Amino acid sequence: MGSVVNRKIKRKCLVCGKSITITLRGTRYTNGNYFELIGKEKIEYWECNNCFEASDDDIPYGPVA
Ligand SMILES: [Zn+2]
Repeated sequence: MGSVVNRKIKRKCLVCGKSITITLRGTRYTNGNYFELIGKEKIEYWECNNCFEASDDDIPYGPVA
């Protein structure tokens, strides 16, 4: 049996500014949507579920490394 560590982190939704608590479970996460944008540097970009669903953008997102 593998043990999965749950970690909770707090972030702010960059769209509406609402605080969201994200649960990291292994390499996956719940509650919140994370994007890694590669411009000049990599940044964390979190959206709450409300803003994510409201967005039409087709931005690929993946699990937290
Ligand atoms: Zn939001």
